[in-house]
Amino acid sequence: MNPCITCGACCATFRVSFYWAEADPFAGGTVPPELTEQISPALVAMRGTNQTDCRCVALEGEIGGDIRCRIYEQRSSTCREFEAGEESCLRARRKHGLSDLLIPTVAA
Ligand code: SF4
Ligand code: SF4
Repeated sequence: MNPCITCGACCATFRVSFYWAEADPFAGGTVPPELTEQISPALVAMRGTNQTDCRCVALEGEIGGDIRCRIYEQRSSTCREFEAGEESCLRARRKHGLSDLLIPTVAA
């Protein structure tokens, strides 16, 4: 089972930033621009993630419970490239009181 569907910790831990064009429909971007804010000339961030009490505005539900990203199909490359089981994932889960994931090792 995909552990992310009952987690969401990373979406409420880190600043989620990416190149502005990903949120510009005229440049082929998919992320709804109204859910982002400009943080530098080149970068935007998901609203809600550029603050101490961090939680992405696109996140719906309860961390560690029934949770979903309401723009899942339109999410940024930053979100797509984040991998369950990597160090940052485990850090986010620990911050929200969730257990470490047991990721099976794939033989080379
Ligand atoms: S913290 Fe890890 S397990 Fe949780 S939603 Fe993010 S990638 Fe998935
Ligand atoms: S856009 Fe979706 S996947 Fe990306 S941080 Fe927000 S809730 Fe998480």
